[in-house]
Amino acid sequence: MKRIYRTYNDTEVATIVVNIKCPYCGEEWQEEPPECGETVVLTCGDDLDEGCGKQFEMHFDAS
Ligand SMILES: [Zn+2]
Repeated sequence: MKRIYRTYNDTEVATIVVNIKCPYCGEEWQEEPPECGETVVLTCGDDLDEGCGKQFEMHFDAS
């Protein structure tokens, strides 16, 4: 069986996250970004114990 060798030089970050801040209560967390130009509905505190539980839209774009 062949073997290949890889080092940390061969790694790259597989996922990026976008920093979210709730416009209602200011709670901050991170999400995987949606497609560019897409608007998604997020729920504050969805995966957290904290947050206000309110929903808001996030529009994500390249710049
Ligand atoms: Zn909130």
